[in-house]
Amino acid sequence: MTATVIDGKTTAADVLATVKAATDKLVARTGVTPGIAVIIVGEDPASQAYVRSKGRRAEECGFKSETHRLPADTPEADLLALIDRLNRDDSIHGILVQLPVPDHIDEGKVIQAVDPDKDVDGFNFVNVGRLVTGQLGEAFVPCTPAGSMVMLRRALGKSDLSGLNAVVVGRSNIVGKPMASLLLAANATVTTAHSRTRDLPGLCRSADILVAAVGRPEMIRADWVKPGACVIDVGINRVPAPEKGEGGTKIVGDVAYDECAEVAGSITPVPGGVGLMTVAMLMASTLASACRVAGVEPPTY
Ligand code: NDP
Repeated sequence: MTATVIDGKTTAADVLATVKAATDKLVARTGVTPGIAVIIVGEDPASQAYVRSKGRRAEECGFKSETHRLPADTPEADLLALIDRLNRDDSIHGILVQLPVPDHIDEGKVIQAVDPDKDVDGFNFVNVGRLVTGQLGEAFVPCTPAGSMVMLRRALGKSDLSGLNAVVVGRSNIVGKPMASLLLAANATVTTAHSRTRDLPGLCRSADILVAAVGRPEMIRADWVKPGACVIDVGINRVPAPEKGEGGTKIVGDVAYDECAEVAGSITPVPGGVGLMTVAMLMASTLASACRVAGVEPPTY
């Protein structure tokens, strides 16, 4: 078997086109323009690059977009005061604090300070609670698992996963746990695996849907994959690539792509897979927030 490739580039472009079209309609009908504020503290180059790409995508979607760049030594109280101001700003529908924040700032406090109804990252306890209790219409869902679900639904051609076994490898708060909640809400029978799981290969072989969110390069091998399974690889790992010359590196996922693609029914590549969906889903969540304020039904993806 050679798997169908679930292409992140096409899927993300499609989501963004839907967001843009719905934004144009929202503005024309209600005068509400979706607004997003991204806050970054410090100079970490990778974080700066993520923030730039979020700002660019927001502008392409027709949003009002603000980026607040704060110095690395910003006191926690100043960051909380900025969040408070943005919480009360009616032109802002989504607030995102780029993580990680410097060590002197309490990340948990910052996450909980964002108004749950503007928490487009979906990390606030209120949104975690909404997701776990199945109130998906009201929850903001973390963008990476939300994007993974869009890819999965499109690959399987259905949103009701009744009767399917799903295994999620990884139990982080930003990927593994919300992914498991989303799969459960879609009626899959879900097992969450982690570093203490016994016989991980055997468990993975039982999965009709296998999601890898581990952070271990190419850990999932072909003989862990059930023939015909849908494999979603969330992992992003930089590894040495001697073929690119001295000091060369490349990005690989948590799944050994070439060999697993021979067994799976469908599979996301890395790069070019889930990673591209994260920013697209952030735009979708911001639009959904603005739609709520305007009393308009947001699009589905
Ligand atoms: P974390 O490090 O927070 O979590 C990793 C999880 O994998 C943990 O639950 C850990 O188990 C589990 N794990 C580690 N080693 C093993 C093992 N040998 N066997 C079974 N389980 C194991 O990572 P994240 O969830 O934040 O990220 C996971 C991957 O996804 C990373 O590669 C990251 O770069 C990528 N990522 C990609 C995003 C995107 O936009 N596409 C966004 C976010 C993350 P335990 O809890 O027991 O320690």
